[in-house]
Amino acid sequence: MPNLLDYTQPELRDLMQSWDQPAYRGDQLYSWLHKDLATNPEQMTNLPKALRTRLAAETTLNPLQLVVQVDSKDRLTRKALFRLADGNTIEVVLMLYNQRRTVCISTQVGCGMGCTFCATAQGGLRRNLSAGEIIAQVHWFERWLRQEGGKADGLRVERPSRISNVVVMGMGEPLANYEPLFKALRAITDPDNFALSARSITVSTVGLVPMIDRMADEDLPVGLAVSLHAASNRLRGKLVPINRTYPVESLIAACHRYQQKTRRRITFEYALMRGINDSIEQAQQLADLLVGLRSHVNLIPLNPIPDSPYQPTSPEDAASFQQVLQAAGVPATMRLRRGIEINAGCGQLRQAMQQSDVIPLLTEP
Ligand code: SF4
Repeated sequence: MPNLLDYTQPELRDLMQSWDQPAYRGDQLYSWLHKDLATNPEQMTNLPKALRTRLAAETTLNPLQLVVQVDSKDRLTRKALFRLADGNTIEVVLMLYNQRRTVCISTQVGCGMGCTFCATAQGGLRRNLSAGEIIAQVHWFERWLRQEGGKADGLRVERPSRISNVVVMGMGEPLANYEPLFKALRAITDPDNFALSARSITVSTVGLVPMIDRMADEDLPVGLAVSLHAASNRLRGKLVPINRTYPVESLIAACHRYQQKTRRRITFEYALMRGINDSIEQAQQLADLLVGLRSHVNLIPLNPIPDSPYQPTSPEDAASFQQVLQAAGVPATMRLRRGIEINAGCGQLRQAMQQSDVIPLLTEP
């Protein structure tokens, strides 16, 4: 069944006209979907009853079925696993740090980039998500936040409230699914409907250079986060295979071009792996690479995954690495491995479920 969240507003107008309805029904429908976050045509009280019945019979409004959701012990992270219409599953995370309500969304089922330290990479790419499947992840947590009575529901967040930030850093390489992603981002930044600021959105990439340039030409100044993890081609080529196609120099040059066009500071993600990429020399190499770029480095002690040779850097070595960057004038923060006890590393909840771990099933909002 077609997912109505896959349609832009003009496409919904066309759909309504093809159903012998006036075009403005498409505008009403779009508003119900993207402003009121309706999940059932029966909620759309300004549409004729016969149209609501047909919508219910021939379309879907919500492509996500909740399988499980799990809260971290500090009650600042909630991770949800959803089943899609074809039976595949994806992960979405709500994070409540720094006065923000940030949702981390997925763009693909699995990932084809093959990063050697990543849980998602292990299963390969199954398929791209559609725009509607991406939008629905944001809507799901927004719906939950808009509802009252949050204090009784586990997480440390006041409700009603709204999502303040979206990070596109879940399963998949976002820029390998470019059109659906940007269709989704345009929907959630539509000022007349969902109305999230583009400046509150960050898109992560492992370094697809032509797509970074394409992003720079979009009239949508979202933040760019680059999963770097190594400053030399020799090491990065081993950790992040796409580096063999787009080496470090071409990636950093694309970052400069992105910054020139969007004026946005660029974030670099660097997962610290013991004895692999965490030496003082490698920190200096990283600092040298980022000279002249307005940047920020997020240092992340690696989330260990089962059967992996990679282990997290010790807190002492991580602090030394950070000090080298800061001394060189490169802002660097250590991201806490929050949520680790709920398998909140990329792809890990899904993987744990496939291994039949028992996780409680909670209810839909
Ligand atoms: S780290 Fe990101 S890009 Fe690399 S395999 Fe994992 S999900 Fe894909």
